[in-house]
Amino acid sequence: METKYNMLSDLGLEPIIQAGGPTTMYSGTRPRTEVLEAMREMSESFVRMDELLLSAGEKIAEMLGVEAATITSGASGGLVLQAGAAISKGDNVIISKLPDTKGVPCELIIQKSHRFSYDSLYLVPGSKLIEVGEKDGCTVEQIQDSINSQTAGIIHLESPFKGAGCVNLDDLTSIAERNGLPVLVDAASMLPPRSNLTKFTNLGCDLVSFSGGKAVRGPQSTGFLVGKKDWIEYCRILNAPYPTVARAQKVSKEEIAGLLVALELFLKTDEKDEIEFYGSQMKFLVDQIVEIPGIDAKVIHNRDHYIPHAVIEFNSDWNGPTGCRLGELLLEGKPRIYLMHTYPGFDGIWVDPLNLQTGDLEIVSEELRKLLISFS
Ligand SMILES: *Cc1c(COP(=O)(O)O)cnc(C)c1O
Repeated sequence: METKYNMLSDLGLEPIIQAGGPTTMYSGTRPRTEVLEAMREMSESFVRMDELLLSAGEKIAEMLGVEAATITSGASGGLVLQAGAAISKGDNVIISKLPDTKGVPCELIIQKSHRFSYDSLYLVPGSKLIEVGEKDGCTVEQIQDSINSQTAGIIHLESPFKGAGCVNLDDLTSIAERNGLPVLVDAASMLPPRSNLTKFTNLGCDLVSFSGGKAVRGPQSTGFLVGKKDWIEYCRILNAPYPTVARAQKVSKEEIAGLLVALELFLKTDEKDEIEFYGSQMKFLVDQIVEIPGIDAKVIHNRDHYIPHAVIEFNSDWNGPTGCRLGELLLEGKPRIYLMHTYPGFDGIWVDPLNLQTGDLEIVSEELRKLLISFS
């Protein structure tokens, strides 16, 4: 690796082989060269940020084939804007007072099975979450009954973390429409498949938040909202650079340029080729460990695994430690290796090929094999 600045050794940091996917704690993902080049180029120009954000949003909408779009500081930033838009609906007086929502409807309905670690972001502009349904289900009636004069919107989570028995999106958008409420979707990690870029808006959802720093491979701090024209405009006018409740969610001109190029390249990539490539990488890894006693290893690509992953579980012949402990051991090793090992409700590990660089696959396969064999 070229090391002009020797940043890691200077700071006393040990780099990590990243086989756990675009997790924020493990520094996200690797922007392509073209993305970094676009950022460098933009760094040499000065613009009006409101003009840049407006044009960049229009360009994204055109690229994706959606009604409207706007850039956010991560999908998390998009959740703050969704809530703020539901409360203020473009009213500048209300926007200027947020997070003070006195006298303004600010309740957001969320199904219990859609509660997740990021939903506190919805509270930032002064909303109140109204939880409905049970852990394993919710009915259309329960949602309808929870709507009153204080309701500002309905949240929908689209994620492998989502619990069971939720109201389907068709019914949800119908209730929302009947009651004049927006449906606010968090689909942060649901790319690929690229078809998800338009799926939720086609189903009638008003605002959908995606990460730019996950599989899109844009700058880690970016995200974008797609949705209906009016709702995107409500979000845009309460976002940074304006001095609002979202001012801390600044996105730089360089990051905006980087996201645009990242999205362009993401859309250009052939999804079938990509799946085949990642699938063959994960098959290589699985083949190295599948014979080890106590191990069930396979390549899985489904709704829970946005690209093919090697998923490793333990059967009754396994006498070694938990998946979580194995993951910790690999992180403590030399080289340090990160695999997904702390997934809620799953005692196993999985390998995500998104961030593997040349040579990483062989190292990860070998180190994992050595570790598993040492306990078998
Ligand atoms: C990753 C994720 C987020 C946060 O996205 P950022 O782009 O990191 O801000 C929010 N919600 C869900 C469901 C996620 O998976």
